[in-house]
Amino acid sequence: MTVLAKDMTWVEYEEALRRNPVIFLTVGSHEQHGPHLPMCCDVEIPDRIGQAVAEAIGGLVVPAVVFGYKSQARSGGGNHFTGTISLDAASLIGTVKDIICELGRHGARRIVVMDGHYENTMFIVEGVDLALRDLRRDGIDDLKVLRIGYYEFTTPEAERAVWPDGFPSWPLEHAGVMETSVMLHLSPDRVYPDRIPDHGPAEFPPYDVYPQTWENLPGLPKSGALISARSASAEKGKLLFDTYVSGITEAVRKEFGLV
Ligand code: ZN
Ligand code: MN
Repeated sequence: MTVLAKDMTWVEYEEALRRNPVIFLTVGSHEQHGPHLPMCCDVEIPDRIGQAVAEAIGGLVVPAVVFGYKSQARSGGGNHFTGTISLDAASLIGTVKDIICELGRHGARRIVVMDGHYENTMFIVEGVDLALRDLRRDGIDDLKVLRIGYYEFTTPEAERAVWPDGFPSWPLEHAGVMETSVMLHLSPDRVYPDRIPDHGPAEFPPYDVYPQTWENLPGLPKSGALISARSASAEKGKLLFDTYVSGITEAVRKEFGLV
């Protein structure tokens, strides 16, 4: 039986909901990821992790929100790249809130929001908070939500194995070794290793400048990647993916009291 709600009939879905399963919702982005990766990375990676965890614990996966908040220069290159399609904060907050309220109406009481895009975080938090407030007013006060940034489950051992010369930083990892490696593991047909840029890390001052234009961002690589992913590999991707799946499975079991 599938864990994907989109492939179920409503009758099967309603039946599945009676078991009070953990429901996984990815909120990603449609964002440039350099010349070597598809624009779906921030959806594909957390969604596949959510699926693997759902399979391990008998959960359900609802379709992802494939657009996110506006890309920021220091974490995603900026919103001025062609291809990046972003939402205003109010739209993202409202989307997250609406979906959680709908799931609550269906009877869902355990939800995991898989946050795949750095810039989404506080707008997801706000959507969750507003949904829980509305649901409480409707008499539903037992819905619990986890927000998970999957990369936060990188263990020190995985970090040493993937970045033997030292870990740069999560914002600089945009289209870097982690995303490139995990995509090489999950979907090698959509990665172009020969197009991986060779440049050093992006150079930004410790503040943001607006508007985020090429003129205002002289240290931003034209490739859209913030660092070179030359040391990426499918093996590293498998190690990271398995690390994320096992860490998140453990956290979800713990928070929802599953044995
Ligand atoms: Zn990304
Ligand atoms: Mn992103």
